[in-house]
Amino acid sequence: MFDKILIANRGEIALRVIRACREMGIASVAVHSTADTDAMHVRMADESVCIGPPSSTDSYLSMPAIISACEITGAQAVHPGYGFLSENAGFAQMLEDHGITFIGPRAEHIRIMGDKITAKETMRDLGVPCVPGSDGGVNDVDEALRVAQEIGYPVIIKATAGGGGRGMKVATDEAGLESAFRTARTEAKAAFGNPDVYIEKYLQRPRHIEVQVFGDGKGRAVHLGERDCSLQRRHQKVFEEAPGPCITPEQRARIGQICADACARIAYAGAGTIEFLFEDGEFYFIEMNTRLQVEHPVTEAIYDVDLVRQQIRVAAGYPMDFRQEDLKIRGHSIEVRLNAEKLPNFSPSPGTITQYHAPGGLGVRMDSALYDGYRIPPYYDSLIGKLIVHGTDRPEALARLSRALGELIIDGVDTTIPLFAELVQDPDIQSGDYSIHWLEKWLAAKAAS
Ligand code: ADP
Repeated sequence: MFDKILIANRGEIALRVIRACREMGIASVAVHSTADTDAMHVRMADESVCIGPPSSTDSYLSMPAIISACEITGAQAVHPGYGFLSENAGFAQMLEDHGITFIGPRAEHIRIMGDKITAKETMRDLGVPCVPGSDGGVNDVDEALRVAQEIGYPVIIKATAGGGGRGMKVATDEAGLESAFRTARTEAKAAFGNPDVYIEKYLQRPRHIEVQVFGDGKGRAVHLGERDCSLQRRHQKVFEEAPGPCITPEQRARIGQICADACARIAYAGAGTIEFLFEDGEFYFIEMNTRLQVEHPVTEAIYDVDLVRQQIRVAAGYPMDFRQEDLKIRGHSIEVRLNAEKLPNFSPSPGTITQYHAPGGLGVRMDSALYDGYRIPPYYDSLIGKLIVHGTDRPEALARLSRALGELIIDGVDTTIPLFAELVQDPDIQSGDYSIHWLEKWLAAKAAS
């Protein structure tokens, strides 16, 4: 087992990894920018190294700085968290070249899944059901029109290098397609440095269902059920739960097996998430994330597993602690993403936390790097915490969420807490009846009233 792990991240996820390391008797190294000198992950780790100025390009994304930090501290492995370098195949490769273990899948798998067209082709070949669409990239308007005609409108144009919900354009007819196609390419080039796009059938009322997979890198893989992340704003998840309220045990077993088999066949290592849109009882693959997800705690809650611990074990060459038959669902779990944002426009609201009180009690987990007096820097994303609840069933989880939100105090900055306090009372949320468009519509109706 490793003696020392460096965490190439910040915020709540850095804390999450430090906690797993500590329980495993592994020393942890935090890296930080000059804007994060007082951050909780720096305080909590056994050692810390400053790797650059506030801009993440020059700090959290600086591969040479992170590798130097490993060399200075003697860290044998790097956990990338999510975001930043977590899905950068070049980084995984560079670490390997320096004799440092990347806690994640092989560079080759990150590369395949990082390009959405290659990912889709690979998954289709592995027997995973995909959204109907272009076979590969679409290079000009004529081809786009042909593909759209074939699959039928509406269609969605997506950047092959896309991520974070950006670089997607919907077209409902031929006239709209031409301009959507051009804008999508221009935006993809600007955002990702790669103008390539592909086309998919735009599903009208799907849910977002993602399957958690885990492989030992030697050809054995399991699934840990699904998460429903249908509540989204601008294609970004805000509320996630497991198990999915609309998924039957048979559907879970079927799609889970397909995903586990696909991972086993490529000898996938560590945690991964295979994302689907789900409509009328059918699953359609959209992408695979080759890392730990923000919303992994809901899966941990219902399966009673520590996914970070398992990632570390597998990266160190140990087997996973579980087999498929050991993995049984217990209860229901919900996570809400707390952002430092001002409603109703969700504009970033950095500032100083004047008072912080985390909720507690049975079935409540608060993953956050906040503390009284903490100054949220304006340079990074606005996630300031995740509130995760677990109950024996969905109604109990919702009641617990409502109760925990009532206890939570974050003063000094605007947050999205009031949004969740309201959502949790909504009849559609309580019945579990919503698609990926529900939240946008709800917000629009609220703004109009
Ligand atoms: P990203 O990598 O940017 O997150 P995804 O491919 O995972 O992009 O898609 C993100 C979200 O965009 C989905 O959860 C869904 O809300 C929406 N979306 C993507 N593809 C489609 C589609 N074919 N039809 C309808 N909505 C889609």
